[in-house]
Amino acid sequence: MTKFDDIQFNSMLLRSIHDLKYVDATEVQDKVIPAIIGGENVVCRSHTGSGKTLAFGIPLSHRILNGQSKKVLIIGPTRELVMQVRTELSLLNRHSRLKVYNVYGGHGMIDEQSQLRKGVDILVATPGRLLDHFKRRAIQPRQFDTVVLDEADRTLDMGFITDIKQILGMIEPKNVHLFSATLEGKVASLIHTFIPKYKEITIPAEIIGKNIIEKDVEVTRGDKYKALLDIITQAAGKKVLVFVSKKYFADSLCEKLGKNEIGAVSIHGDKTQKNRELSLKDFKTGRTQVMIATDVAARGLQIEDIEFVVNYDAAMDRDTHKHRIGRTGRMGKTGYAINFIESVPVNYDPSRDRGGFRSQRSRARSGGASFKGGHNRPPRRQFSHNHGPHGRNNRN
Ligand code: ADP
Ligand code: MG
Repeated sequence: MTKFDDIQFNSMLLRSIHDLKYVDATEVQDKVIPAIIGGENVVCRSHTGSGKTLAFGIPLSHRILNGQSKKVLIIGPTRELVMQVRTELSLLNRHSRLKVYNVYGGHGMIDEQSQLRKGVDILVATPGRLLDHFKRRAIQPRQFDTVVLDEADRTLDMGFITDIKQILGMIEPKNVHLFSATLEGKVASLIHTFIPKYKEITIPAEIIGKNIIEKDVEVTRGDKYKALLDIITQAAGKKVLVFVSKKYFADSLCEKLGKNEIGAVSIHGDKTQKNRELSLKDFKTGRTQVMIATDVAARGLQIEDIEFVVNYDAAMDRDTHKHRIGRTGRMGKTGYAINFIESVPVNYDPSRDRGGFRSQRSRARSGGASFKGGHNRPPRRQFSHNHGPHGRNNRN
């Protein structure tokens, strides 16, 4: 393993790395840092939790400090991720004093505007809010010469692509870098439109971290709640992140858990930004054991010590599934991902389905089952092929 001390980059950044007590560079950092410092565009695929933020944060900060780059823009798909990346890059630049700032929707623009006018070296932004600032001339697009698309497949999908095209058109950056755990098919073929020449860096391991133990659990719809309670009990106070597909359901599930005296918060695109942040904070600090989330929390978030990720409702596609479960098993820790597979009960009559039909067989399976200690099973999840338009609620 390569040590940070053996990679050539600015000593003020290295001092911050020492402060953070990081010694060895992760594989993706080892490969990406020299490539970006050398001036190459990088398209990088590396699994969740592998340290991609510093993989681009270190060399891009280095280039600014070295006079090779003016300002750097990092674009992320959700407000919470943007805040997280900003925090990490601020820590990295503690000694260098580069100004790292973020802009995102859902709160006032005035403070952001005055901050931007004071000057910024690295800006982390959601696409919609950034465009608003460009339009109000709070900051000149041409001041940026380097752009990173974090969670690139998401930032290039149909919910964001128009904004991204507009942003890149206004900036005309010299360098563009793409980072994600998943970069397949349609998006991969789009890359050439944005970056004529680039170095592809793929960390060949699994797309999800190898420390994630995944288990499918067959349950009827009526038994899901009980199965969730079993998991929370087994987590014995450790964190459980539960993904559901509907915003309103996140709230009602949260309320139901509260009635069972389980501390839970919810996060989704219909909540105010303030409340989204409060929920995340409560969950991060361990004030609440459980967080119920829609896919607004599926990507990129670093939350310490999540024991279980539960897919209460299956993800809409394979990539979203990989990102969701990638919230656990990060940086060498073991985590468990439990996928509820809805079974159709025996004697099922769809015309009578009100969601409460139970089967003896499934009840036996979900009741009291042990969710840990299993082996990875091949996924049997079903993903719908039509993702539908991605909600604009979560976009900025
Ligand atoms: P990714 O973007 O690949 O999902 P992150 O960049 O969010 O991963 O990093 C995951 C966590 O690992 C963060 O808390 C980060 O600070 C930490 N981390 C990053 N690089 C290292 C390293 N070299 N050694 C130890 N921890 C690291
Ligand atoms: Mg990331």
